Amino acid sequence: MAELIQLVQGTVIENESMSRHSSFGIGGTASAYITPKNIDDLSKILRFANQHGIQIYFIGSGSNILVSDNGLDGIVISPAKALTKLSFDKGIIEAESGVMLGHLVKETSKQNLTGFESLGGVPGTLGGALLMNAGAFGSEISNHLISLKVMEMNGEIRTMMRDEIEFSYRQSSLRKDVFILSAIFELEKCEPEIILEKRLKASKKRKSTQPLKYRSAGSVFKNPQPNLAAGYLIDQVGLKGYRVGDAEISKKHANFFINRGKANASDITALIRIARKKVEIEFNIMLELEIKTYGFNASEFMPHG
Ligand SMILES: Cc1cc2nc3c(=O)[nH]c(=O)nc-3n(C[C@H](O)[C@H](O)[C@H](O)COP(=O)(O)OP(=O)(O)OC[C@H]3O[C@@H](n4cnc5c(N)ncnc54)[C@H](O)[C@@H]3O)c2cc1C
Repeated sequence: MAELIQLVQGTVIENESMSRHSSFGIGGTASAYITPKNIDDLSKILRFANQHGIQIYFIGSGSNILVSDNGLDGIVISPAKALTKLSFDKGIIEAESGVMLGHLVKETSKQNLTGFESLGGVPGTLGGALLMNAGAFGSEISNHLISLKVMEMNGEIRTMMRDEIEFSYRQSSLRKDVFILSAIFELEKCEPEIILEKRLKASKKRKSTQPLKYRSAGSVFKNPQPNLAAGYLIDQVGLKGYRVGDAEISKKHANFFINRGKANASDITALIRIARKKVEIEFNIMLELEIKTYGFNASEFMPHG
């Protein structure tokens, strides 16, 4: 590990608390948190870690993750604040994975390009949005994708065309061990007034339905069916406002679990088990996690675990 850290040209923070890199504000210590300087640096890091069996975790800005209180024995790599190039050529947009989604929405709007408006307000990086196939109000990030560039653990860079990747509701077929470097999108021109109206509509809806004053990781569970929201089911079993420690099932949106200040990961996992158990008993539905979890045993999320 020390040798790997010596090799890095970008920034390395040893024994870094993951609570600083998760929108929940929760998580134990990772052996190292690395922001590579550039793509060459990333390639060296991945090859070295791969050859020496060092565990690697990729994150974007941590807005859809839960990290264990016990931390992570390995290194966390994020493109945020490093791979942030964004360029336009008429309707063709090329963006690196560390570009923040909000910035992408703002810049495409400035170019009078339509397609990303409803993603305004979704936190996170482009890399995280692509892996999760982030979406809002009927539109998904993959809708306008042409191709992606990814790096394999051996440092090899590959271009993947849109039709080589399966995207569905909050998931993609991208492997866990490939790092998303950049993406190309194509958007259409549109009247600026229409773009502004779409952005305002999405923002208003988000503010009225989500508990944005508190730290959270967005929706904890996937909706089991397009017309059956996980939040509705959790509400129906009477868990809105239910608390374990400082973690609470939001009164505003029951699929958002919030950190009221000092919650830890075990408080959130307890809420997850309780919600799953009650929904399973009353509706015979096992809710599937949307958030990505790091450093846990699967049993920690099971209703009877
Ligand atoms: C208040 C709030 C509201 C939200 N609203 C929405 C919403 O409306 N719609 C929605 O879809 N989501 C929503 N989310 C969830 C979250 O914002 C999205 O999933 C977002 O796209 C995650 O991006 P991120 O960079 O934070 O990824 P992270 O949370 O850091 O990571 C998510 C996954 O992506 C992987 N990953 C990240 N970067 C890379 C990379 N470069 N290469 C390979 N893998 C990578 C990680 O390994 C992890 O598996 C919300 C979250 C919050 C806190």
